Amino acid sequence: MTDVSTMLQRIKDDKVKFIRLQFSDIQGQIKNVAIPEAQAEKAMTDGISFDGSSIEGFARIEESDMVLKPDLETYAVLPWRKDIVAARFICDVYMPDGTPFEGDPRYILKKVLKEAADMGYTFNTGPELEFFLFKMIDGKPSTEFKDQGGYFDLAPTDLAEDVRRDIVLALTDMGFDVEASHHEVAQSQHEIDFKYGDALKMADNVITFRFVAKTIALLNNLNATFMAKPVFGINGSGMHTNCSLSKNGENAFYDPDTPLQLSDVAMHFIAGVLSHSKSITRIANPTINSYKRLVPGYEAPVYISWSASNRTALIRVPAPRGKSTRVELRSPDPTCNPYLTFAAILAAGLEGMKKEMQPPAGAKQNIFALSEEERNLAHIDTLPGDLITANKYFMEDELLCNLFGKHVVSGIDDLARIEWDNFRTTVHPWEVEQYLSRY
Ligand code: GLN
Ligand code: MG
Ligand code: MG
Ligand code: MG
Repeated sequence: MTDVSTMLQRIKDDKVKFIRLQFSDIQGQIKNVAIPEAQAEKAMTDGISFDGSSIEGFARIEESDMVLKPDLETYAVLPWRKDIVAARFICDVYMPDGTPFEGDPRYILKKVLKEAADMGYTFNTGPELEFFLFKMIDGKPSTEFKDQGGYFDLAPTDLAEDVRRDIVLALTDMGFDVEASHHEVAQSQHEIDFKYGDALKMADNVITFRFVAKTIALLNNLNATFMAKPVFGINGSGMHTNCSLSKNGENAFYDPDTPLQLSDVAMHFIAGVLSHSKSITRIANPTINSYKRLVPGYEAPVYISWSASNRTALIRVPAPRGKSTRVELRSPDPTCNPYLTFAAILAAGLEGMKKEMQPPAGAKQNIFALSEEERNLAHIDTLPGDLITANKYFMEDELLCNLFGKHVVSGIDDLARIEWDNFRTTVHPWEVEQYLSRY
């Protein structure tokens, strides 16, 4: 643990002039307040007050005074600010009386991590973020491809490779342990993977990643987008989330003495996540557009199933065992709030463990090749097909609603309804094309 005086010295040594205090709203968007370096000590000891009423899903006007307290472990210098050095902290949000704000997504994740810790477990995640790099045209984001590369392609097809490299370098400067970066399947689509770690740090990493990728892309006159399905007819962008639990430093999902080398804990965890997968979808796939990714034909999951051998399932068990044993939930997309998504996955997994739930038989074949009848016979259910349906499942899910608390639940419900109503009543170009001349 870093203490305040060590931190102050570090800020001085780094010649930091401005500090950005960052936190996230319920949609997982980064918010930030900049303070001059002279305020650093006050921020770290007393915290910095701000008006929460203007933040999406935060306080009502009458209880709007809130306090930001930096988490000292999240200090990082922003590497692209060459002239005036700026650093950032990710913060926890408190009420003026010093209690944690129940609408802070980071606090919600911490609550369920604490529950896991009380059972002796650490929850690790390894998110794989996919994104597109599109051209900016006349200063505005577009969906024009920057490159025509494909999966694992190299230059010269991969024109955006330099930008991707700059993103990797910036992330590395900020303390990320980047493991791999590659071109993804679709034109102009990329993926950067960083080393897994405890879920709180990884959720912080996800919001940092999005902010860094967008910033570096813009400096190169490109738009990095994490929108789930920006272009019809090609793959969308996922945020596969590798999950594992460790206990006393050992991987608790590994058991060399079972046929699949998966422990009972792993099986219960899988069963718990599958049983809440419809409501988790509301959190892991939070936009109208998210559901355009979750369709057959684009390597994204549609059916609720798990598999140790194929990628068509919602939960896949990647081949490595031993300390790398993990399960990969393939539904989340990179528009999600990572704090709430990891919290929902863990809560569901812990419930599976407490109730010693067993998953149905794993899918051995390509589920997309099955007929509806065959899927019914195998009891393979489908993920919700749109935001409002997913929202309904979420609102009925007592486990997740209790964990998230009234404040966040009503915020999530309102957001889904407003967005759905807006979308539902909009006349889309598709409709005009189909009907204008025909009728
Ligand atoms: N882009 C795919 C998705 O939507 C994943 C492709 C891959 O990583 N193999 O999940
Ligand atoms: Mg990957
Ligand atoms: Mg990928
Ligand atoms: Mg993957």
